[in-house]
Amino acid sequence: MTVPDPRRRIAGVDRLLERPWCRELIASRGRGWITGRLRALLGDLRAGRLPVPDSDEGYAALLRAEVARAEIPSLRRVVNATGVVLHTNLGRAPLAEEARRAMAAAAGYGNVEFDLGSGGRGSRYDHCAGLARELTGAEDAVVVNNGAGAVALALTALAAGRGVVVSHGEMVEIGGGFRIPEVVEAAGSELVTVGTTNRTRRADYARAIERGGVGAILKVHRSNFAMSGFTEETDLAELVALGAESGTPVIHDLGSGLLIDSDALGLPHEPTPADSVGAGVDLVAFSGDKLLGGPQAGVLAGTGKAVAAAKAHPLCRALRCDKVTLAGLEATLALYRDPERARERIPALRMISVPVEELRRRAEAVLGVAGGRGGQAGGVGVGGGAPEGGRTGARDAEPGAAVAGAGKARLGAEIAEGWSLVGGGTFPDARLPSAVIRLRAGEDADAWLEVLRAHDPPVVARSRKGYVVIDLRTVAPHEDEIVAAALRSIGAKISPGG
Ligand SMILES: *Cc1c(COP(=O)(O)O)cnc(C)c1O
Repeated sequence: MTVPDPRRRIAGVDRLLERPWCRELIASRGRGWITGRLRALLGDLRAGRLPVPDSDEGYAALLRAEVARAEIPSLRRVVNATGVVLHTNLGRAPLAEEARRAMAAAAGYGNVEFDLGSGGRGSRYDHCAGLARELTGAEDAVVVNNGAGAVALALTALAAGRGVVVSHGEMVEIGGGFRIPEVVEAAGSELVTVGTTNRTRRADYARAIERGGVGAILKVHRSNFAMSGFTEETDLAELVALGAESGTPVIHDLGSGLLIDSDALGLPHEPTPADSVGAGVDLVAFSGDKLLGGPQAGVLAGTGKAVAAAKAHPLCRALRCDKVTLAGLEATLALYRDPERARERIPALRMISVPVEELRRRAEAVLGVAGGRGGQAGGVGVGGGAPEGGRTGARDAEPGAAVAGAGKARLGAEIAEGWSLVGGGTFPDARLPSAVIRLRAGEDADAWLEVLRAHDPPVVARSRKGYVVIDLRTVAPHEDEIVAAALRSIGAKISPGG
């Protein structure tokens, strides 16, 4: 006797569309879309990708699951447990509450290009300019879409069709396709490289300018790599003096846009936009979403003349940012009126300064919640602590010793020493000591990371030498319970039912 093919009893679209549960879905989502989801589902059943349900409820459950799956947005909130504060793939700087509120408020109508005093036309470029002037000391400033756009606009406005002098040692790639030689070329300028990889002197710049045809001197801050040994570079003040003598504008591509003293964050010295303006550059370009801690944006600050040239260029229109970004940036910049407040309120700055002891306490609490009392179903066991390497870490601990005594623990979970990174192409050598949660996953590390990513909201962690490493530095304290729940889901996965 042959077993009948279950696919022969798949219900028809029309009949299913009339079922009450289907009508309910149609009422809230629309007939066209639900019919499409239903057809996709029946297609899966016919192709044998799903078992054919034998009840009405079975169809209802499958369609609801299909709808839920299709409704997951493409851009989702995630919990960043990587310990990389400005994680470009995870959206760089998390925004301050003040910025989030301002952005929500700006989502409706606003005086984006409207003068509330006169009732006439206003300028979009005015909105953050006052604060940017205040915080950098520049005569004027203009905000565009991102840091790369700011650099491209500065070059285009000041040096299109002419040479741009750059040191060989600053022919850098920032990541995401931003390479100095290509940006200069794209701006319609000609790259004039001077000096050598490790040493470039004032005389090198001077000779290039003497040859003629130079529109600007560009200095690029080496933000994402460090150079040491037999090196020499020409500082901004010297370049500004040379620029003044020869009538050549100086542009500084600064990158990060840190607006407070890096010492206050316990980081190595990092120049600020105010330093560049103080040195007398014509324009300094910096990002809004790196250490400034705001939304994606690029700021050009400098002399009134240079900023006016940038604003007058058609490229400025193409690079303009929207009202929501302007609102978020303005609210972020406003926090810097009091540097102390900026450090407390801006998440990226706060995360950089969280003490290790606080991270350790939180990690213990997370493991406590995740483990449950006496290790209930899906709980994670907790072992002893020892130094860990971590992909971001420089230390190489001996993993065998670290997990001794954690044999019974399901996940071999423990708290260990590790390192966090600033990220976002900044402070490449700075390691922030951290206390991380690590799980002894062995060959399952990738699978466990996948379980964490499948959590709602997804938790993104990293792995290192057979360990899953979770760094709470980049997790907001109110998200700790999400991390605990995600850890429990690993526990549930590897030993269902406890
Ligand atoms: C990050 C960076 C940029 C690009 O800024 P985005 O905001 O990412 O576009 C340009 N120059 C330097 C030196 C940088 O570090």
